[in-house]
Amino acid sequence: MTSYADILSKPTTAVKGVGPARAAAFARVGVATVGDLLRYYPRAYQNREHVRTLAEIRELISSGPDGKTAPCSSILTVASEPVNRMIRRGMTLTKLKLFDETGHVEVTFFNQPYVRDNFRTGASFRIWGRFALEKSRLTITSPVWEPYVEGRELPPIIPVYPLTRGLTQKSVAQSVSAALAMTGTGGEYLPEGILSSLSLPTHTYALENIHFPESLEALEAAKNRLSFDELFLTSLSLSVSGGRKNAVSKTVIPRADPVPFLGAIPFSLTASQIKAIDEIGDDLSGGKVMNRILVGDVGSGKTVVAAAAAYFTLSAGYSAALMAPTEILATQHFTDLSALFEKLGFKCHLLTGSTGAAKRREIIAAISGEEPVLLIGTHALITPDVTFSRLGLAIIDEQHRFGVMQRAALAEKTEGVHTLVMSATPIPRTLSLIAYGNLDVSRLDELPSGRQPVDTFAVDESYRKRLNAFIEKQVAEGHQVYVVCPAVEESPVPEKGDDPLEMADITLFDLLGPDPELPMKSAVEYSEQLKNELKNCRVSFVHGRMKPSEKDAVMSAFSRGEIDVLVSTTVIEVGVNVPNATLMIVENAERFGLSQLHQLRGRVGRGKAKSYFIMVSDSKGEKARDRIETLKRSRDGYKIAEADLRQRGPGDILSENSVVRQHGQSTLSLIRALSNSAITDKVTECVTRILDVDPTLDRPENAGIKERVADLARRSSGTVN
Ligand code: ADP
Ligand code: MG
Repeated sequence: MTSYADILSKPTTAVKGVGPARAAAFARVGVATVGDLLRYYPRAYQNREHVRTLAEIRELISSGPDGKTAPCSSILTVASEPVNRMIRRGMTLTKLKLFDETGHVEVTFFNQPYVRDNFRTGASFRIWGRFALEKSRLTITSPVWEPYVEGRELPPIIPVYPLTRGLTQKSVAQSVSAALAMTGTGGEYLPEGILSSLSLPTHTYALENIHFPESLEALEAAKNRLSFDELFLTSLSLSVSGGRKNAVSKTVIPRADPVPFLGAIPFSLTASQIKAIDEIGDDLSGGKVMNRILVGDVGSGKTVVAAAAAYFTLSAGYSAALMAPTEILATQHFTDLSALFEKLGFKCHLLTGSTGAAKRREIIAAISGEEPVLLIGTHALITPDVTFSRLGLAIIDEQHRFGVMQRAALAEKTEGVHTLVMSATPIPRTLSLIAYGNLDVSRLDELPSGRQPVDTFAVDESYRKRLNAFIEKQVAEGHQVYVVCPAVEESPVPEKGDDPLEMADITLFDLLGPDPELPMKSAVEYSEQLKNELKNCRVSFVHGRMKPSEKDAVMSAFSRGEIDVLVSTTVIEVGVNVPNATLMIVENAERFGLSQLHQLRGRVGRGKAKSYFIMVSDSKGEKARDRIETLKRSRDGYKIAEADLRQRGPGDILSENSVVRQHGQSTLSLIRALSNSAITDKVTECVTRILDVDPTLDRPENAGIKERVADLARRSSGTVN
């Protein structure tokens, strides 16, 4: 018998009705397998259940917001045979009249001459589309229609899928429905007891109803179950790849004498740095394997805490490795730390993708020798030939920016090794378990003293001229400027000849989203524009679709001061330190979450000069203003994250902070739907319950869960951004 997992991994061509052409179209939207197809969730739904009479539709339109149109559903009968007319070469117009007992509507179809044969006088249809009131005539163009027979039910809620060339709503729905038929009820992996105690529907029910909801209630239940699944499996995979808690350690690292270390750093530690170092010291010397995350706002001074941990390790005769997600960050760590460790009498090396072969051989020889070293680098550190003779501690900076695969490779390499993960993402405490799995947490909740607050402003487009003048002024004074634009998703755009189904009336997944009407600036285009407008500035750009080496090159040029104005998406690396940057302008600020804005703000205000953070937005919403007020008032990442949590729910925060972003497209939309903490509570409860008894998921009753966790890891690969 074919297992459920086997069915899921079959190519889409195994689905009834999917030939090479449709499979190619699916491939364009990232759907390669049956499993992908099942996860290709609708981006919205139309509620055609509520059927209105034409009189009611007139009433609805005239009392509506624009008085012109409204999407509605109606059951109507053909009054006159359709007439086809050629209006231009290649363009036909089909016109007809439909009626009910309260009035009639003029219908026009473009380029669908075949509809003439379907609309026979006297036949009835359920019509769905945007009705328009022109003067007093009711009209509708290219509506969706389904033959209506009294007594036979039509589906009430219709999915609206994201489309691309070669896909139609009908073909996607048909393929999904065929895929559902292939998989049957095999998808359940949670024990019955858990399902009923958490009042969740079965997986099969959830999949059927996310695609073809029986009712709004069924859709809601389906969303809950699938959101639960994504969060549950994500947090389990984080926990499981986060290492085995409480494993016995062969490497006991006693605390070294702190005096030389404290003497070698140019400042005194904050209270929370001391506490974190203390907690790490306890772990390292305690006989168990350390699995700790150090969380602290940007600029809170995580590096020196990591350095103290490395100092303990090297002093005990073991080597330490520090891995950063980008070459520029690794280089920066190396610059800061090699000087410090030299003073303490230890060797420090830098290994990245661009380290030359000779240097690389030298480093590999060094780490396999007797003398302890601190090796700093990128994921170049996890290649198989990099083997330490005595690795005592692995430090990972900004772990969430590594792909799940890289993390797994790292976990394998550091099995039994003390691990310290660092993150600048202030996840509210209530979401800790979901975000960090079973890691122990140390928090840096204060900034070192003497930091200048960054002046924070919000302006609209009318300030554009003054903004440009302000950029030029900063640059003339020798400073540098960041301009941040939202990442423009390359979501598949429907082809011309507009599918009327695109007019969804419930966009459930977008309830909390920003105003889609505002135009967005793309980093590349905007940098071109700024090049013209700012004649005296060197303007360049960086965005997520560039190769890592290209990104690094631009970032390095910026940190060397060779670029005055850097236009970017949010890829400007968390952690990159350019103290000379004194101004950050965020375009379309309404598109960013609070925590994200706060993190961006942390890029400036790192030097002695006064720094500014300016959010540009034309959004007039009250929510937007609230958000900006919160940012102006607070400099505390946790307070801001809590406010973010209250305002937008946990989904956005977890997804935006990349905690779950890497787990595939579908996740994002589902996670977004999480607007309250009911599900996160359930997930936390369930994860704790399972891990308490079976931390490695090796018990037979958890085999299904383990398989799903592995599948999730397989599906998510590569780094984020
Ligand atoms: P992050 O937590 O963002 O990684 P860093 O470790 O890069 O922060 O520290 C930011 C800056 O603050 C660095 O220039 C560092 O030298 C400085 N710093 C760290 N701790 C202290 C302290 N206790 N007092 C003063 N400056 C500090
Ligand atoms: Mg850092």
